[in-house]
Amino acid sequence: MNKEQFKDLHQDKVFKNLYNGEWIESSTGKTIDIKSPIDGNYLGSIQAMSKEEVDKAIDNAAEVQKLWAETPINKRVDILNRAADILEEHVEELADILVLEIAKDKKSCASEVQRTADFIRFTADAAKQMGGETIPADSFPGMKKNKISVVTRVPLGVVLAIAPFNYPINLSASKIAPALAAGNSVVLKPPTQGSIATLYLAEVFNKAGVPAGVLNTITGKGSEIGDYLAVHEKIDFINFTGSTEVGQHLSKIVAMKPLLLELGGKDAAIVLEDADLDEAATNIVSGAYSYSGQRCTAVKRILVMDSIADELVAKVKAKVEKLKVGDPREEGVVVSNLISEKSAEFVESLITDAKEKGAKVLVGGNREGSLVYPTLVDNVTLDMRLAWDEPFGPVLPIIRISSIEEAIEISNKSDYGLQGCVFTKNIDKAFYIANKLEVGTVQVNNKPERGPDHFPFLGVKASGMGTQGIRYSIEAMSRPKAIVLNLNNVE
Ligand code: NAP
Repeated sequence: MNKEQFKDLHQDKVFKNLYNGEWIESSTGKTIDIKSPIDGNYLGSIQAMSKEEVDKAIDNAAEVQKLWAETPINKRVDILNRAADILEEHVEELADILVLEIAKDKKSCASEVQRTADFIRFTADAAKQMGGETIPADSFPGMKKNKISVVTRVPLGVVLAIAPFNYPINLSASKIAPALAAGNSVVLKPPTQGSIATLYLAEVFNKAGVPAGVLNTITGKGSEIGDYLAVHEKIDFINFTGSTEVGQHLSKIVAMKPLLLELGGKDAAIVLEDADLDEAATNIVSGAYSYSGQRCTAVKRILVMDSIADELVAKVKAKVEKLKVGDPREEGVVVSNLISEKSAEFVESLITDAKEKGAKVLVGGNREGSLVYPTLVDNVTLDMRLAWDEPFGPVLPIIRISSIEEAIEISNKSDYGLQGCVFTKNIDKAFYIANKLEVGTVQVNNKPERGPDHFPFLGVKASGMGTQGIRYSIEAMSRPKAIVLNLNNVE
């Protein structure tokens, strides 16, 4: 596939769905317009598929899955590596689509695509290592040597992959690639805002040689078709990244269906007296405001020791004031329009609540349509929503604390438990705090972040269920199968 062919895939601007290896039109005639959050310009339309079409796509994925599971791993690996190569050839075009569709700066979009190609290659490598074990029985009391369990890993069946708008390519591929590696087929429901980029990703896997039906896409509003998809009897596993609200709802309606959930967060940056405050401020500002704060692992609150709070706040404030706001197509822009005006209104409501309860807005605080200016709020107290709610926007609350125990207590009081970070030069204190924080990952002297992708990535409490990360994702989307040999004595 050359670059021109890639661009021309959907010339008519009504994006079809991948079904059994073909791009097909929905019979509903119902479409959803995708507009750029930057300027409201029309980018294309996706199709709202009917329940009958959903059934057809899932049935097809279920039908072909067994054959895919029987495909030798080396063939599956070749296809994944081809997908990585194709993706890498199209970093520029896909990044351009992402910039317009989700209003993220070009550099971050290009890095999302490149990182995804790397992820797929690493997954292919990990798939080659997928093996099993043999377990002799005779370590158990009363057992003899003649009983041996041969344990292999087998796929789960049809995986439903649902990704959010903020990393549509990366968070779709990080479900698709390990699912395929493990021998599952995949039904992919792209985020509505982010669908165009995600459908191109599906085409990358299609062009790479994923057999017909092993990857099907279903577009439409999650609020309309999501529940129907999730409870479908032929969906064997759900791999979901998105809000805690939707994730919790899904876990309630799917009964015994296994799920992997990566949800919201309220990551704290804990800054101790002996921290390098310049390093802490740099990390905190890029952690909190890049992509306008629309990242699950964004720094979403500072917990800073009283004695150094003024000094840290001054450093953070100086950096926030310099953040470039505007069109993400312009070089150096960090904060742009949020994904929707509704999201911006929500962020504004948190700022207003904090102001009314006595917090001090040091920078920003204003909104124009879907644009929220970078906002820094000091003297936030625990009665304010900003101390607990996930804004998913460019606002950072500062909570002043007087002890390590207080930092741990406030951090753990959150419903969320994605990541946290601690800035200190004292490794003993860092380890003490890291051990006490009820989160999936603690970063020492760095902002929270996902990756590198072979690290485990998980949230606890309202931040998720199950573990992602290359090897971990393959394991999550496969299960052990034991065949027990009961050998007779041949003498
Ligand atoms: P969202 O509103 O929960 O949507 C996520 C996905 O779920 C979208 O594809 C959406 O489709 C779909 N959906 C909506 N309702 C559904 C339903 N009833 N059943 C099935 N699917 C449904 O989240 P978002 O606004 O896109 O993303 C922001 C959230 O994701 C934040 O809370 C953020 O922290 C979290 N996030 C977490 C991680 C992580 O790894 N922990 C990473 C990134 C983002 P539509 O687009 O059609 O509505």
